[in-house]
Formats: sequence, structure tokens, C-alpha cells
Amino acid sequence: MEDKHLNVVFVSSEAVPFAKTGGLADVSGTLPVALKKVSCKVTLFLPFYRQVLSGGFEIEPTGLEVSVPLGRRELRAEIMRASSNDLPVYLIKRDEFFDRSYLYGTPEGDYFDNLERFTLFSRAVVEAIKTRGFKPHIIHCNDWQTGLIPAYLKDVYRDDPFFTTTATVFTIHNIAYQGIFPPFLFELTGLNGRVFTPEGMEFWGNINLLKAGIVFSDIVTTVSSGYSKEIQTPEYGYGLDGVLRARRKDLHGVVNGVDYSEWDPEKDGLIRANYSEKDLTGKRLCKEDLLEEFDLRIDLEVPLIGIISRLADQKGMDILSEAMEELMSLDLAMVVLGTGDRRYQDLFEGLSRRWHGKLGVKITFDNRLAHKIEAGCDMILMPSRYEPCGLNQIYSLKYGTVPIVRATGGLDDTIEDYRDGHGTGFKFRDYTASALVAKVKEALSVYRDKRQWTALQRRGMKKDFSWENSARRYKDLYNLALEKRLHKS
Ligand code: ADP
Repeated sequence: MEDKHLNVVFVSSEAVPFAKTGGLADVSGTLPVALKKVSCKVTLFLPFYRQVLSGGFEIEPTGLEVSVPLGRRELRAEIMRASSNDLPVYLIKRDEFFDRSYLYGTPEGDYFDNLERFTLFSRAVVEAIKTRGFKPHIIHCNDWQTGLIPAYLKDVYRDDPFFTTTATVFTIHNIAYQGIFPPFLFELTGLNGRVFTPEGMEFWGNINLLKAGIVFSDIVTTVSSGYSKEIQTPEYGYGLDGVLRARRKDLHGVVNGVDYSEWDPEKDGLIRANYSEKDLTGKRLCKEDLLEEFDLRIDLEVPLIGIISRLADQKGMDILSEAMEELMSLDLAMVVLGTGDRRYQDLFEGLSRRWHGKLGVKITFDNRLAHKIEAGCDMILMPSRYEPCGLNQIYSLKYGTVPIVRATGGLDDTIEDYRDGHGTGFKFRDYTASALVAKVKEALSVYRDKRQWTALQRRGMKKDFSWENSARRYKDLYNLALEKRLHKS
């Protein structure tokens, strides 16, 4: 591929450091920075949430306003500007939609007007690009919140000369979240009825924004090679496996990188003591610190397992709840950091009262604690039902915290099962509580052999999942998308 300069607009509904609910934010905040190093000029577009306003960022108005149709209404949105790591960031401001406590919904459920919110966002991004008069080669969209953008380019803006040389890339970070809305709301999108067909963005009679992104983009990607194959099967495709099979020639898996300037025990400023693969002494201090933080009264030698997770079915919370009784009977302690479904929040809070001193639970979203858990635990547990990529297990490798994971998607791709002095973690295949417990027991038996355990930690710490390679792959895919786009038009 020729190494020419590419202008890229990266559109996401969350990005660090501005607003985050999960891995999408890590990717959206760090991939654009990595792309700059492979000669892409990137601008990032985000909604202007309350979190952004209260986050203490330097934000200024651009003076630019766009007007977008929303059904029969015509709404204005302001374009604000911030920057992060020298990356220009544009924020779509419409307080009625984004000045709220959460990004997508409360623990009780999604916001009722998410279609309006993300239609406004998507359309305002397209209009802002046009108004600025700066033609991108690529608009890189992410997840259902931005799925309308490829549809706009192939429908409403189809004959607009401004966009004839712009290609779209759409990345699926999680296929279970599709942005499905009833058909009578279709008018809100401002699209023509011709795209609301089963070949287009209709899904069993409903509007499906993720499907719009998949069908109308030039190239589709997802966040690991394993997941790109899984989502083409009925078991993991959540009803879109057929759509993805139809686009399999344009579907690519690119594993997420991680930001080692944030997640590296040698430099991490949020942990008690720094340490490295060569000298693990500091990790003990981090464990002491974590035990204090969670008020756990165990001997320092007792293995400590951590969980940092959205508390949702996807993350294996059902088999974990089933396994908790047996896990707690073992010689170990656990810390859980998470937010999510009310029933799991209540469940873990209940369990922590029952196993006080051995199980620490914090129902909150706290980046500082996430770092302390990565550093202070001996193992991290990720029993996911499915996992598009997963970031915590990759952070854990760097922190010498051995991952115990279910062999699915990105977890399967990034962790090598321990055997006879090889491998970087522990993987179980069957999605059952008994398979989970058996794997934890296996990990505990290796933990008792200090020499083997330290070697296992060090193998993980040597792994390199930095963004460089993945950014290069995205750049190749951008070129491919452009070729396709120019070829067709
Ligand atoms: P997902 O995006 O499906 O939630 P990932 O593993 O890809 O899962 O990314 C999760 C990211 O969110 C990680 O950076 C993790 O550290 C962070 N995270 C999840 N829950 C919490 C929490 N309660 N507090 C702080 N960070 C969290």
C-alpha cells in the first residue's frame, strides 16, 4: 500500500479522557493518536456530554453552528472545540440531549430518546464536516450510535459532490448493542424510505442503526480476528450473522492496542509503588495497598483475584454468581469493581456483606481503583459469555496480573493457555460455573509454585499490544476503503 497522507474524521460516542463507559472510549481516545504516527491527520467528533463539561477540560466554542433536520423539526447544534494529546476534538453541543447524568441510559434502562439523540449527533457531524469545508478521505464510525453516518453518505448525500471522494469505515465494538427502534420513528432519521428495507437498515420490521453501519459502509471492521469470525455465526451474531456473512469480503478483524503511557506499572502514577518485569518488588506493596483500600483481612500470601467489569450478562456475571459460593470456599480473596445492571450490583453488595473481609466490592466507576486492582491483584478474572476484544486482560498482562479468561473472541486471541511452563494465562472453554471454578483451581495450584508463577507473570509482561501495528492495519484498510469508493463512483 502506498504511504500517502490521509485525512480521517473519527466519530465516536465516547472517548478518553472526555467520557467513558467502556473499552470504546479507550479505543476512540488512543487509536486516533496512534494513527497520527502513521501519517493520518485525524480529528475526533464526540457528543458534548455533562461529563465533558464537568471534567475540567479546556473547551471553547468554534462559533460554528449547524442546523439538522430531526423529523419535522429543524434543530441547531453548536460545535465546541477541545484537544487531547494534540488531537483536535469537536464536540456536538445540544444540552437537551447530552447534558444528562449518563451517556446512554440509567441502571434502570436506556434513555427513551436515544434515536433522536444519536440521529442529531450523526447528522450534525456530517453537516459540521461540510460546513468546515475540509474534505476527509475517511469517516471512521464506531458502533450503533454512529451507524447512520454511512447511511447518510449513501443516501441523503449520495449526489453531494463534497463527499464523492470520502469513504466510510465502520467498526463494531460490540454486536449485541444494535440501536433498535420501532419503524414509526424512521422519519426522524431524515433518510429516504428506500434504505428502510431488509437489504438496508430494516431489521425484522424495526430500525437497526448497527445494521445501517454494516450495510452502508465501505469497509467493516471489528476489534479482534476471533470476534470477526464469531459474529458470522448464529450463536454470536445476534441476528446479524447473515448480514455479516454477506459482507465477509469487506469484514476485517483488527485487535485493539492499549495505551502503555497510561497502563504500565513502571510509570503508573495511580498505584502505590512502581515495578517492572525485572523487579516485581513493588507489586507486593500494591497488593498491601489494595487490601487496605478494600478492607480485606487476609495474609499477603493468599491469592487475590480481581474483577473490573461492566456488570452485565455479557461479562459472564451469571456463571460467576453461580460460582461465587464455591470460589469463596477456596483459599483466596476477591475484589470486584463494577457498575451496571441493578440485579448484579445488588447481588455483589449482598455477597460482600456475607463474605466480609474476603470479598471486597465497590459499585462505582473509578479509573484510579481500576489501576490499583490491575497492580495489586495476583489474577484477574474475565468469564465473559462473549468478548469482542477486552482490554483488562491486556492491561493485566503488563501488570504481571495473570488473566483467567473464557476462551472467546479477543480473550481467546490475546491469552495463551498455561501448559508446562508455557503460556500467559488460564483459559476455559465451556460457559459454565464448573468450568470457571476448575480453571481458578488450576491457576491456584500454579500460584503455589512461586518459580513457575513468576515466570508466567514475566511472560505476560513481555507481551506487546501497543497500537502501532493495529494503527498500520487501519491505515491499510482506509486505503482499501478509498479504493473501493473511488472505483465504484
Ligand atoms: P467493555 O468495553 O465491554 O466494557 P473492555 O474490557 O473492552 O470492556 O473495556 C473496559 C474498560 O473500562 C477498561 O478500560 C476497564 O478498565 C474499564 N472499566 C470497566 N468498568 C470499570 C469501573 N467500574 N471502573 C473503572 N474502570 C472500569
